[in-house]
Amino acid sequence: MKTVHRMSCCCCGEYAGRWEQHWNRDTGYGICVSCVDWQRGRGTSETEIADLYGKEGVNWGKESQDA
Ligand SMILES: [Zn+2]
Repeated sequence: MKTVHRMSCCCCGEYAGRWEQHWNRDTGYGICVSCVDWQRGRGTSETEIADLYGKEGVNWGKESQDA
């Protein structure tokens, strides 16, 4: 079952796209691509990102075009 929501970024509060809810985040919150880039720039590993924010293209990422 797919449950796709409009997400707000947990980091900057911007609209973060339409994604599935990640279990490790509050309902309605995901992360935007620019904040993931920022996390990567600070040395956050891909494993940590997946754990905290979920999978790219599932829980966050560049907006899919099915709006
Ligand atoms: Zn953000």
